[in-house]
Amino acid sequence: MSLKKEYEYLIVGSGLFGSVFAHEATKRGKKCLVIDKRNHAGGNVYCENVEGINVHKYGAHIFHTNDKQIWDYVNSFVEFNRYTNSPLAFYQGKLYNLPFNMNTFYQLWGVKTPQEAKEKIQSQIEELNIQEPSNLEEQALSLIGPDIYEKLIKGYTEKQWGRSATELPAFIIKRLPVRFTYDNNYFNDKYQGIPIGGYNKLVEGLLKDIEVRLEVDYFEDREKWNALADKIIFTGKIDQYYNFQFGQLEYRSLRFDHEVHDVQNYQGNAVVNYTEREVPYTRIIEHKHFEFGTQPKTVITKEYPKEWTAEKEPYYPINDERNTEIFKKYQQLADGESNVIFGGRLAEYRYYDMHQIIGSALKKVSVHFGDE
Ligand code: FAD
Ligand code: UDP
Repeated sequence: MSLKKEYEYLIVGSGLFGSVFAHEATKRGKKCLVIDKRNHAGGNVYCENVEGINVHKYGAHIFHTNDKQIWDYVNSFVEFNRYTNSPLAFYQGKLYNLPFNMNTFYQLWGVKTPQEAKEKIQSQIEELNIQEPSNLEEQALSLIGPDIYEKLIKGYTEKQWGRSATELPAFIIKRLPVRFTYDNNYFNDKYQGIPIGGYNKLVEGLLKDIEVRLEVDYFEDREKWNALADKIIFTGKIDQYYNFQFGQLEYRSLRFDHEVHDVQNYQGNAVVNYTEREVPYTRIIEHKHFEFGTQPKTVITKEYPKEWTAEKEPYYPINDERNTEIFKKYQQLADGESNVIFGGRLAEYRYYDMHQIIGSALKKVSVHFGDE
């Protein structure tokens, strides 16, 4: 006869996946323990208060979704504001609007009507004669032509990923809208915003009344943690879970340099991308603009892409062929587990946005608890 364990669920990682799962399991009467190796909950959406401003410590996070259920779900924990992301691109001393829209086309070529813009792009694309785009460079060129590719995509992409755009998968760029209206909204989704008071409110709402232990790494004593609970929800790195037996999965890392400036408004916008190769950072974030802040000082963050090594934070999975093959092997092992559920960006090795993570956690919850 096996002894009853102290918890029904051990949740490794307090990011959005872990927090949503913990919340939903607790709601269904299950006893959960959440652990995280960082000194705070929330994973990459965590904000730090500096000078009264919510600083997105692990990079700018803008919530957007087309799914009303997911929008209502997050708004049930914290109300979201009406922030609309409309980043600018800085290239060789000039500013351009993003995503690619009539404002960008006017700034580049002086074209004023959608017809003129379409003709200009079409004439550039035709010359290239790309049938089936097989990588990011071909995808971008066949979508928008060489002018925009050279000025606004190539440099940014190659420094972001540390690889030539010809070695990157096409899907990375497919997420960027191309529009023939004067609309600078970066996302096409129906719902968009930032939690009023910051993302910590969302995470606090999800984890309310749930036991969370911080600064504990599951791998430092996995026997002990396994012994505490019947089931495990694992949101860390899947290759590490399996002792790297098929090799290490690769990531792209980032360094965030946060600076406080004694000015009220530093760049007039939350996000400015630096698209030329020669500038070492990819973007500058001015956090107060996410919440229309009026504080006397400001905090900006320069985001430097970095080669990933084991001691650095794994931010972006590199979904190239080699890594995809390795991941599939780990996934096969994961599929055979009966007491472990793998979820989130690191365990599923996928470039997921927040709404997708929440959707995926809710789906796994409902399958697991047989709600459907
Ligand atoms: P994470 O947030 O990474 O959480 C995993 C947690 O597990 C971490 O807290 C980690 O410390 C913990 N953990 C890992 N291993 C262990 C271990 N061994 N023991 C204990 N704890 C462990 N999405 C958007 O929708 N909009 C955006 O604008 C946006 N911008 C982004 C910008 C950047 C720079 C990045 C990197 C991501 C961005 N995202 C954005 C994506 C968003 O961050 C993710 O979708 C979401 O936060 C992932 O949640 P998660 O729970 O899967 O992972
Ligand atoms: N991208 C670009 N120029 C830009 C912004 C984005 O070339 O000014 C490309 C780049 O390859 C990037 C991809 O589009 O990796 C996706 O951009 P997104 O802003 O969605 O990335 P995230 O901010 O989520 O990293």
